[in-house]
Amino acid sequence: MSKALVIGNWKMNLDHVEAVHLTQQIAALLASRPADRVDVVLAPPFVDLRSVTSVLEAEHSVITAAAQHASDRDNGAFTGEVSVSMLKRLGVSSVIVGHSERRTLYHMDDALVASTVRAVVRGGLDAVLCIGENLATREAQEHDDFVRQQLLSALEGVQESNERVTVAYEPIWAIGTGQTATTEQIRDMMSTIRTQLSALRFSTSRVLYGGSVNAENAATIVTDGGVDGFLVGGASLKTDSFAAIIGACNDCYAERR
Ligand code: PEP
Repeated sequence: MSKALVIGNWKMNLDHVEAVHLTQQIAALLASRPADRVDVVLAPPFVDLRSVTSVLEAEHSVITAAAQHASDRDNGAFTGEVSVSMLKRLGVSSVIVGHSERRTLYHMDDALVASTVRAVVRGGLDAVLCIGENLATREAQEHDDFVRQQLLSALEGVQESNERVTVAYEPIWAIGTGQTATTEQIRDMMSTIRTQLSALRFSTSRVLYGGSVNAENAATIVTDGGVDGFLVGGASLKTDSFAAIIGACNDCYAERR
């Protein structure tokens, strides 16, 4: 894969006015300092999506927009849900599926993650499939098996070699905690995930890391962790830190081990 990928997951932060400001700032920065080796994606809350895609279109920006979640259903009586076709119509290009906050706080189980991945790719958008173990699983040394099983389950029924699938490895104990996985842990997990992806015939998928990535640690994780980019939470809410992460990816991706 020739380009890295950096996604900013804003979670439930920034209303549509604040979202417009941040999008304008990031788009302007990227226009003045292009990062040709990185695809950049912003994932705002649902209610901000149209404002964000309008800014990106008006600025002719290379940045694209992602939703943080989508329904696995096409349409109908599913109060509060948003379908993939609605997102596509808004100019959204990808959907984060199975973020650990959705899995743990909103009971999104493996079967629902799998049917949502299928709905996203069937609808013609890119799926960013989130996987990762909690602390107890890591301490029990069961993280490799756990993650292999998550991949097997989530990709069931998705056409092999589907280039619409990206995987984000996000150990739950590293998300929003300031405790980043070590580069050795990340590198080992990248190898586990890539081996499983190739067994499942998804070897073209990019594999990202997420979990307390910031302006200071991004370059080392790209170079020594062997990742194809990042899913960034907290540090994506500030132009400077997000731009620094994109810059680190742009500079180090070709040299990664
Ligand atoms: C995330 O929410 O996907 C994430 C990785 O958050 P943070 O960067 O804040 O740990």
